[in-house]
Amino acid sequence: MATTARKPRKTASKARAESNGKLIYTFAEGDASMRSTLGGKGAGLAEMTNAGLPVPPGFTITTQACNAYYEAGKELPPGLWDDVVAHMKELEQQTGKGFGDPANPLLVSVRSGAAFSMPGMMDTVLNLGLNPDTVQGLIALTGNERFAWDAWRRFVAMFGRIVLDLKAEDFDEPFDELKHKAKAKLDTDLTAEQLREIGNRFAEIVKEKTQGEFPTDPYRQLELAVRAVFDSWFGKRAHDYREFNKIPHDLGTAVNVVTMVFGNMGDDSGTGVAFTRDPNTGEKALYGEYLTNAQGEDVVAGVRTPDKISQMRDAMPEVYTQFEAIAQRLEGHYRDMQDLEFTIERGTLYMLQTRSGKRTAPAAIKIAVDMVNEGVLTKEEAIQRVDPAQIVQLLLPRFDDAAKEKMTDQLLGKGLNASPGAAVGQAIFDPDRAVAAKEGGHPVILVRVETSPDDVHGMLAAKGVLTARGGATSHAAVVARSMGLPCVAGAESLKIDYPKREMRAGSVTVREGELISIDGTTGEIYAGELPTIEARFEDEHDLATLLSWADESRRLQVWANADYPRDAERARAFGAQGIGLCRTEHMFFEEDRLPTVRRMILNAHAATAAKAKADADRTDDDRAAIATFDAALAELEKLQTDDFAGLFRAMDGLPVVIRLIDPPLHEFLPAYDELVGETTRLRTTLELTGGSNGVDAGLVQQGLVKLFGKKDAARAMRRLNLSAPEEGAAASEPMDRSALERELTEKTELLHAVEAMREQNPMLGLRGVRLGLMVPDVVKMQTRAILAGAARVAAEGLTPLPEIMIPLVGHVNELRETREILEAEVARIVETSGQQVDYKFGTMIEVPRGALTADEIAEHAEFFSFGTNDLTQMGFGYSRDDAEGKFLMQYVDRKILPENPFQVLDAAGIGQLVRMGVEKGRAAKKDLKIGICGEHGGDPQSIAFCHEVGLNYVSCSPFRVPVARLAAAQAAIASTETRDK
Ligand code: PEP
Ligand code: MG
Repeated sequence: MATTARKPRKTASKARAESNGKLIYTFAEGDASMRSTLGGKGAGLAEMTNAGLPVPPGFTITTQACNAYYEAGKELPPGLWDDVVAHMKELEQQTGKGFGDPANPLLVSVRSGAAFSMPGMMDTVLNLGLNPDTVQGLIALTGNERFAWDAWRRFVAMFGRIVLDLKAEDFDEPFDELKHKAKAKLDTDLTAEQLREIGNRFAEIVKEKTQGEFPTDPYRQLELAVRAVFDSWFGKRAHDYREFNKIPHDLGTAVNVVTMVFGNMGDDSGTGVAFTRDPNTGEKALYGEYLTNAQGEDVVAGVRTPDKISQMRDAMPEVYTQFEAIAQRLEGHYRDMQDLEFTIERGTLYMLQTRSGKRTAPAAIKIAVDMVNEGVLTKEEAIQRVDPAQIVQLLLPRFDDAAKEKMTDQLLGKGLNASPGAAVGQAIFDPDRAVAAKEGGHPVILVRVETSPDDVHGMLAAKGVLTARGGATSHAAVVARSMGLPCVAGAESLKIDYPKREMRAGSVTVREGELISIDGTTGEIYAGELPTIEARFEDEHDLATLLSWADESRRLQVWANADYPRDAERARAFGAQGIGLCRTEHMFFEEDRLPTVRRMILNAHAATAAKAKADADRTDDDRAAIATFDAALAELEKLQTDDFAGLFRAMDGLPVVIRLIDPPLHEFLPAYDELVGETTRLRTTLELTGGSNGVDAGLVQQGLVKLFGKKDAARAMRRLNLSAPEEGAAASEPMDRSALERELTEKTELLHAVEAMREQNPMLGLRGVRLGLMVPDVVKMQTRAILAGAARVAAEGLTPLPEIMIPLVGHVNELRETREILEAEVARIVETSGQQVDYKFGTMIEVPRGALTADEIAEHAEFFSFGTNDLTQMGFGYSRDDAEGKFLMQYVDRKILPENPFQVLDAAGIGQLVRMGVEKGRAAKKDLKIGICGEHGGDPQSIAFCHEVGLNYVSCSPFRVPVARLAAAQAAIASTETRDK
């Protein structure tokens, strides 16, 4: 996840302008501002070089060169190679060494580096320039034979893997065999001779697998490595990572060619990675790890479990002090937490990378707040440093400590708390199977000995990641943190057996597919499913501070969509300034109310028609319909009055927008198809049993099987309370035939009612304002309940602020007439009860015609609320119930649409309707209050749009209220910055 709220905006064209056609920059020529040309790593190396920090000399091939390579069908752009050679000559001069010179060999690393950090996604080759001759030179020069052969075997394997596309196992398996034979526990236990042997064996493996000699010409090696880095930009894992993080594909990667410095020259050498603050918690202390006598890949790959960086203080005090000072300086320089890579070669420190570090959500918030308190950042900068999406993580559930204590017998072990959060899922030991399990609808914990970039697609599919090897900066840890995935790393007590698809922890075996729970905050691993509990917003003090600053900056108010007092209270605790949408029909769906709601609906049309007649003209049926309908309505009125009073109480002093009934009535009735099935089964049963009062279960079953097939017949038997007779037994059960007949009559009546209300396009049918106009008694009842609820709460000394909202208005007359009906009802209430309650009357703008005629509509409304769910549905012509399942996600994958328009407001299209609605509405009524209550109200990108078009508030689900507070502030700050420019 990006460490800042800003989405990648730089494009290839920006980079082109920056580079001016120059394809290579030495580190001395670049600087931090050139990220899009030099990539993050190249820009960091250049900035550190110019700041006088110890950086090995080198140069960067630009991202434009990478793009030109792709444009030319994977050919190096003209002039690039000559330029590379010229820069290598320059490096030779600077270092006094020769590339390929056996007497004094220059070795380089070739490292990828895109503008946006993609940790571990692309490729790096170390020790390039080695061949059988230069190895000898290295031995002669250093007098360290073990080191030279170690470098050689590493180079051949890395080059084989990265450049020649061989598999890691091609090298790992013979290497492990050799270690086993030599009884060496660690790589460092191997002798020079053993390393030489394995290096040469690796070269033979390359020859066998590629049908060609291992390339010994250093320039040939360099060219192949540069191409491999370019190629890795469109490698599967890098592509997947960019898709996931919404990084454009046209940015390209730079290639850094850096003079090698060696961390594997003995115990006075080493290599490590460190963050200037703890990327998990944000605590201000160096956080990282290092390995003595090792090269960088060892730390990241988790080959040996490294030491904590604090141990370096004792092991190499001088280097530690120097490193600490550099770390502080870099953090101060960049005004952000840095992710550093370094190597110590025989006691001399070299810096190999500085970049803004990835961090967890709690760390991002703490660092932003701390940096304001330290005087490093302004409040506005701190607000912009946190991705609103990260806030959601802080509000997610975590494991219940009490339950944990009871489940200690299920504790499988403990690893490193590499990325916080609780995750439960099936243990899956392979990334491809993880993807398949996810597609099958199962939550997955990806369990690996260690992860590599080839596992990324499995990580993307997982709820959490567990590894048996590797530290806090291992691939698993870094990538999981960047994805916001809980991760436990380096749980060494686990014995993972890939072929058997299982892992053992002591005497317990977990097989693939079994549930496990991992706690990335504590590092604990449990068998089975651990219960989770809600996060405690009130304990998140740094978040509260940040949001209070956000509140000072934002112009948009943040309201919440909530139907129940419980949700309203939560929303208010999260900072909601009102309820922007209470969907009253949700209250109708409650199980104990449904029978009353159905009675009301089944009589609604008949009663409404009957009421239109003069009393004398009414039939008995009319009177019965009216009586049943009114009785049901009266019951519902009581319930709704309580509902609304609860909401007003929870939101004392804040506005509560209550939307009158919206969905088509038949949504509250059983499905038509189901009723057809049930009535047919009942009728068949009655026919099959003839006139007899006893039911022959065997006969019924036979008949049902013939008609509906075995499965449906079994279900029907259960519904009829008949048990299937044992095979061969002619069972007979007495049954009350008249009960069956009664049920058939009731179901048939229901079926007819549902049939009469059936619509081909119910979303475009009798719903919203139209329903209120056809059956006004329902909305009148709701209005009475709103006013009575408000009066009750006012009598308690509180301040209810009700706002009545009419959905789905497309023509001004719909709203005008509804208003007249409801105002007459209000006048009646005032007259009969004497109670006077203030309320506002407004409408949703969610039908395109409503937006187009917003000026006319505004004449009859005190507020608008954009229902962008329906507006998107009707504007695009996409069914919101079907599109996502049928084609929309494919549209997004295939880039037919940039985003799912039901999640991110389509500013270019639907946004025009919103903009027009605002302009026309305010032209007619200057102070018209305007909000949004569609799903988009909680989406940061859409919130920026709402800010821009001048809405008064956004309304979103309670959990997104804190997100929206931050996003609204970011939008306000960004627009002020744009204006100032
Ligand atoms: C909308 O259409 O955006 C809206 C909020 O209403 P609903 O989702 O209930 O149709
Ligand atoms: Mg709607």
